[in-house]
Amino acid sequence: MIANQPKRYRATYPSNVRYRDQVPRDVKGSATVAVLSYHKIGDPPEDGWESWYYVPTVVFRKQLQVLVEDGWHPIDHGSFVAALDDPAGLPDRSVLVTFDDGYQSLVAEAAPILEELVIPSVVFVPTAYIGGRNDFDAGDEPAETICGWDDLAWLAAHGMATQSHGVHHHAMSELDPAARRHEVEESQRVLTEGLGAPVRCFAFPYGDEGDDPPMMAAALRAAGYRAAFLYGGGATDLSRADRYRLPRIAMGPDTDLRALLG
Ligand SMILES: [Zn+2]
Repeated sequence: MIANQPKRYRATYPSNVRYRDQVPRDVKGSATVAVLSYHKIGDPPEDGWESWYYVPTVVFRKQLQVLVEDGWHPIDHGSFVAALDDPAGLPDRSVLVTFDDGYQSLVAEAAPILEELVIPSVVFVPTAYIGGRNDFDAGDEPAETICGWDDLAWLAAHGMATQSHGVHHHAMSELDPAARRHEVEESQRVLTEGLGAPVRCFAFPYGDEGDDPPMMAAALRAAGYRAAFLYGGGATDLSRADRYRLPRIAMGPDTDLRALLG
């Protein structure tokens, strides 16, 4: 499944398959959390094309239903952040649903299903593209509209909170330290002003945290972030997790969560 992803997605964690063997199970005092990382729900636009990052709505609904049936507990990002300091405060086998880039199709395709199943979620948006289009992956993925401020406010009112995906959707490894700090701080400032809600979580574009994880973590911490997410990997035990290098399960139409998580 990971093999279908473009090479530019430099997941810095092991692939889903390899990580599967490391998923902690039934460890006393542990808090196993699966963070799902989606991009686009529904079909490509008429002038676009299919890619692994589109999950059809019927598949999306089924993936979430399977999780709930298997005893996973959906949580919101606030509960997730609180659990970093108090892992015992969460039920074991919690799940956090996330979306990257903030495609406007989330409003019509993902939000109704999440609301029906009573599943909160997070969308990570690059602030320079709010109300624009995904020019950052032009040619690799079909052009799509990114949520505007009204869309983000509507999603927040329906259980999908907006958090940071940087300003320009840049890979951290391509930026100097000052530019990395700018991505972290400026996106947080813009989102906090625009939505009036705290921004505590960051998702690295392309899962790329750069070549100096301790410095990156220090920049995130100094800005007030409490957690940062990579792209790829499996479930994680929050009591042992590195909060600024958290794995997420890359979700595509062929991702079999039951097989992956047990
Ligand atoms: Zn992205």
